[in-house]
This record gives sequence, C-alpha cells and structure tokens, in this order.
Amino acid sequence: MRFDAITLHRVRLRRREPFVASGHTADWIDHVVVEAETVDGVAWGECAVPSDPYYLPETVETVWHVLRDFLVPAVLGRTWSTPEDLETLCAPVRGNYFAKSGLDMAAWDAFARDRGQSVAACLGATAKSVAAGVSFGIEADAGTLDARIGSAVAAGYRRVKLKIAPGRDVDTLRRVRRAWPEVPLIADANSAYTLDDLPLLRRLDDLGLMMLEQPLGWDDMLDHAELQRHLRTPVCLDESICSVRDAALALRLGSCRVIAIKPAHVGGLTEARRIHDLCAAAGVPVWCGGMHDFGIARAANLAVTALPNFSMPADVAGSDLYYAADIIKPPIVAEDGMVPVPSGPGLGVTVDVDAVRDHTVDRVTLHRPSA
Ligand code: MG
Repeated sequence: MRFDAITLHRVRLRRREPFVASGHTADWIDHVVVEAETVDGVAWGECAVPSDPYYLPETVETVWHVLRDFLVPAVLGRTWSTPEDLETLCAPVRGNYFAKSGLDMAAWDAFARDRGQSVAACLGATAKSVAAGVSFGIEADAGTLDARIGSAVAAGYRRVKLKIAPGRDVDTLRRVRRAWPEVPLIADANSAYTLDDLPLLRRLDDLGLMMLEQPLGWDDMLDHAELQRHLRTPVCLDESICSVRDAALALRLGSCRVIAIKPAHVGGLTEARRIHDLCAAAGVPVWCGGMHDFGIARAANLAVTALPNFSMPADVAGSDLYYAADIIKPPIVAEDGMVPVPSGPGLGVTVDVDAVRDHTVDRVTLHRPSA
C-alpha cells in the first residue's frame, strides 16, 4: 500500500446545541479530515481533536501543523503492508496522538478496502451492533437536563453520562438518580477535582454510579490509585490513557477499574486494539468514548467497539443528536439504543464529498516527492 497524495480538510460542523464541560464551551466543532489517495482510490480518516487545549494538550492547530509538516511527509510515497507498518513510519514523531489517529484511520480504511473486508473484520471484531449511551454537558438548568435525559432514555439509549464540576455534582446526580433509578449512570469530571475533595467524592458511593470518570489530574496515575482505594465506585480513566503503556501503568498501580478508550487520543485504532487486548487479559472492562466525532471517526469507533471486551455502552450515539448535518451519508443513527457496526469494505461508510467541501474552512494537499 502507498499514499501518493494526502489532502487535509479543516471541516467545521455547527452543533445543534452548545456543549458545556468543566473546561470549555463549544457551539461549533472543527475536525481535521484526512483524504489519502492510493492507486486504488481514496481512504479517509478524521482527527477528532478539540479546538482548545483544555482536554488534552493537542488542538486543531497543532494537529494541522504536525500532520502537514511531519507526519504526512513521513508517509507519502512510502510502501507499507499493514496499519502497524504505517504507525512505525509515524513513530519518530513523539506523542501527538490526535494527529496520528487520522492517518491510522485512513490506513485501516485503505487496508480493509484492499482486502474487501470491513475494518471491524480486519481488527478481529465480530459484534454486529453495539450498545450506545449518551453524554450530556453541564446544563444551565435542571429542567433542560431532565428533558434531555428523558428523551434519551425513551429513545432506548443504554446509559447516561453527565459532566460534573465542583458545585454541580452530588445534588444533580442524586436528583437524576431518583428520577431514573435503573439507568446506568456515569459521572465525568474531566479532572475538576483533587484528593482534597475525597469527602465529597465518597458521597458518590451511595448513588450506584456505573463509574466515576477522570475525577483527578488529566495526566495523573498515583492520586487516582489512592482515590480508588477509598471508593467503591469504579474509577474510569480517560484523559490519562493515551497509549497502551499508560494503560499498563494504570492497571499495575490500581488507578482505575475501567478504561475509556478513545481511538482519537491514543493514536488511532491500532493502539486502541492493543489497549483493548491488554485490558481483556487483565479482566478490566473497557468502553469507547467519543470526541464529538463526525461520521468518519464515528464509523472507526464503531469498528473497534465491536471487539468483545468493549462490554459497556459506547459514546457512539447517532450523530443526528449533535449535528444538523454530517459528512457521511447516510448518517449513523441509533435504533433502540443500538448502533449497527458498518459491514461494508473499509470503514463501511460513504463520505459525502460535497458536504466535506461545503463545510471546509481550510485545505492543503501534499503529494509524494516524485509525483
Ligand atoms: Mg471523559
């Protein structure tokens, strides 16, 4: 396999509603879409990276820079046989996992198309559909939040995740828990607390949460291990897990009992599968988190989520929930809380090139040196 030309598209989609987490608000989302040309056609990837560095250090701007100036030149015109080979070509660039994820995704798309199989099948995944949960930001008022939860539960979504922050935590969760006692419920703190908050965090143990996600430092392992020793509620790590080595360290230290795998910030599907396999061997469940993904990244997430140890509902809710338009057709939608895993060749979705063009705010094409 070989990429002869790669076009980076900065694609902007407007959200149906602004999203508020502990660190930021967003009413539109930019992602970097990777269009990679091979002799046989086009493969697609998507870097589902935030615009600001309040979640992890990378941003749309850093991804653009690292792809254009380092990663794309490193792979253009080079021959590779498997996505792991392409990953090796990218390895001299340290970190920059969001940037790498778009190329890794395109490599899986090209690789699977070449074999006439779906990416899910090439990854060794067998599930035909996956259970979907929904994630809600910190809403301005209780009525709005409750209405959204109510309609998501009525639509069949299998789990509800709420963003929490100091002052917007125990009371909100308790109210939601009373209103929906049976719904699996996750609280995601996006690193808004410290160990000084231990007394407050211990109060969450009475709420029967499915897990408490990333309560402490974004790059911490030790304090989370200390916290987990004091909590019955499973701690889940998200931001702290950017590689299989991070996952191995977390399991060794006892920093969590669940891991949220996001292909976008572990460098793509190749590393996501490694983390899945490590956790499966250790008996630690994983689930697939979302990054407000557009359709391409959503399809990739579905492919890896079809692996067997992704045993908890994923953030793969239909994109229609978040965006008025998408860049694939037809869009991915959930039915009774289940989302089918694309089974066609490659990522198994058709990219709407007109939509990509219409929503692109910046674009650059690089060619292999001899072309
Ligand atoms: Mg999270």
